[in-house]
Amino acid sequence: MQLTITGLSKTYANGVKALDNVSLTIPTGMFGLLGPNGAGKSTLMRILATLQEADEGSAVLGDIDILNDKPAVRRVLGYLPQEFGVYPRVSAYHMLDHIALLKGVVDNKERRALVEALLQKVNLWEHRDRRIAGFSGGMKQRFGIAQSLIGEPKLIIVDEPTAGLDPGERNRFYNLLTEIGENVVVILSTHIVQDVQELCNNMAIINKGRLLFAGAPTDALHQVKGRIWEKSIAKNEVEEYHASNKVISNKLIAGRPSIHVYSEGDPGNGFVGVEPSLEDVFFSHINGAHNTATA
Ligand code: ADP
Repeated sequence: MQLTITGLSKTYANGVKALDNVSLTIPTGMFGLLGPNGAGKSTLMRILATLQEADEGSAVLGDIDILNDKPAVRRVLGYLPQEFGVYPRVSAYHMLDHIALLKGVVDNKERRALVEALLQKVNLWEHRDRRIAGFSGGMKQRFGIAQSLIGEPKLIIVDEPTAGLDPGERNRFYNLLTEIGENVVVILSTHIVQDVQELCNNMAIINKGRLLFAGAPTDALHQVKGRIWEKSIAKNEVEEYHASNKVISNKLIAGRPSIHVYSEGDPGNGFVGVEPSLEDVFFSHINGAHNTATA
């Protein structure tokens, strides 16, 4: 099974083109949708989760036409939105039980077994009687995964799941995601490169509604190999370097700017070639330095 997106476009009433003719094929396994804030990720996720209409294009999951058969999608969908909004003042156990009932698990014994298994799986068993409203960010996200897994979904969408989590919580969340079955399409939308690096076999980069790259992270790295150069410079030189080079990132290391530039050949002037990271790939695409869209 795979998810095939073809020519998807969406323009909001205020004229913002959030998706511009996006075509993507997403196989089973963990797929990273990477883009900066405002790239169009949530718009794409909400369309796939049947919460929003597209203007043009199609999206097909196995034999389900997502844009035209919403009830069929909802039966196989697990969705973890960016924000739940209001967190209920009821216990994790009761909330999960309630959601399972809404999703059609009507048999009491079956539902109890399911809720207990899910709470164990996401490591919230000992907190099952606590109110969700009092949970930490990481616990809320793990609860979110538990509810998204009810009904053995075939398509799981997680929108910006690790924003705001501390490193320990992020790791626990990563471990949980990797336990989700290999026969499920899992789309992880994020602006955090590390999320994709640690979890995903396949990825896409989008910016301003456009697809800039689709493929394996290893292919993405290969494309920019030998083209990323680094130099430590003085603070007052930053503008000058921006004017004369394709600067893709600028980080402070011990208080001093360290810039990465994109260049097919050695830019000279003290730059040293570096092994590209996925972050270099991301910024090369986002800053328009590398623009061979492969999709
Ligand atoms: P991302 O999830 O990558 O941050 P979004 O899909 O939320 O991106 O937004 C893409 C673009 O569409 C942004 O410019 C955003 O401001 C705009 N946008 C999102 N939702 C709406 C809306 N309901 N009405 C108008 N513009 C919107």
